[in-house]
Amino acid sequence: MNLETIAVHAGRSIDPATGAIAQPLYLSTTFEREPDGSYPHGYLYTRLENPNRARLEECLAALEGGVEAAAFASGSAATLSVFQALAPGDHVIAPLDVYTGTPAILRTILEPWGLEVTFVDMTDVEAVARSLRPNTRLIWIETPSNPRLEITDIAKISALAHSNGGICVCDNTWATPILQQPFRHGADLVVHSTTKYLGGHSDVLGGAVIAREPSDLFQKIRAIQKIGGGVPSPFDCWLIHRGIQTLPCRMRVHSDTALQLAQWLSQQPQVEAVYYPGLSGHQGGAIATHQMQSFGGMLSIQIHGGRDAAFAVAAHVNLFKRATSLGGVESLIEHRASIEGPTSGTPENLLRLSIGLEHIADLTADLDQAFRA
Ligand SMILES: *Cc1c(COP(=O)(O)O)cnc(C)c1O
Repeated sequence: MNLETIAVHAGRSIDPATGAIAQPLYLSTTFEREPDGSYPHGYLYTRLENPNRARLEECLAALEGGVEAAAFASGSAATLSVFQALAPGDHVIAPLDVYTGTPAILRTILEPWGLEVTFVDMTDVEAVARSLRPNTRLIWIETPSNPRLEITDIAKISALAHSNGGICVCDNTWATPILQQPFRHGADLVVHSTTKYLGGHSDVLGGAVIAREPSDLFQKIRAIQKIGGGVPSPFDCWLIHRGIQTLPCRMRVHSDTALQLAQWLSQQPQVEAVYYPGLSGHQGGAIATHQMQSFGGMLSIQIHGGRDAAFAVAAHVNLFKRATSLGGVESLIEHRASIEGPTSGTPENLLRLSIGLEHIADLTADLDQAFRA
């Protein structure tokens, strides 16, 4: 089946008790045991498994073309579970340009625990190869990356990881399975912050790890999910599962509008640089064309005049909302360096834009008046 159909139907069935078309919400934390001690419906206690979570996981695995998924309470909890499934003394390679939370998890929690970490320019395959050690177990990639929309060659980095006996994990939050399916290019695990496009409405937090094939490592991630308990609530699962139904058509609009806006922005005199994989001359544009169906709804711009000029643009928008996060129906604008904090390498004149589902003409008009204000 095609992704549009999977998004609408995967993990769903008519409720046998009532005939309801929409998914019932199972808030029960506990499930009845038979006199003989068995659990005939397979559910025991909601931290371990819940019908809403099981159905969301089925849908996520189907969308990515994987075998199994584990849903978490946030993208960060999903990320943490992957690294915790390794052993102290293992080595990890991670990108320099990446969602800030990922190095924060590595530096704050996992390096003290005994993981060795090297941060590299993930667009430089030679540099990644040089960073391999005998104990390199995992290469983490994020493509397009945050906030510079850098494109990593999933096939090349996966091959490098495999040549060293390790795995490649792809944070696919920005592309979503609609625009990019990392398993097709050799990645072993996919991670999502479902808070973003999958939920799609800025009203629910969630994360997931999806496996291309069964493995001991994924069983460990599953154990961390169930025993560690960083699980999403049934209603969170219900909201994300519902959001996914419209994901394919939302991604089409996000991508179309972002591409047009990127082209318009690159012609504005106030704009020093535009980062969008669909623009000619963008780093890794050819790889993006090969591994993505279209280029997504995220873009970053640098404004002439430094930090103050960038702040002034963000201060004068009306339709765009000044807020962090991404992937919702409403367009957001954010001064990224000041959110990332003192260790940020992001340029001070960079604004990150999450393009929502508004009409392109209204978005360009809003930015145009903010540039002139
Ligand atoms: C937001 C985000 C995360 C973290 O997800 P949370 O749900 O906020 O914990 C991880 N990776 C990327 C690319 C993100 O955008």
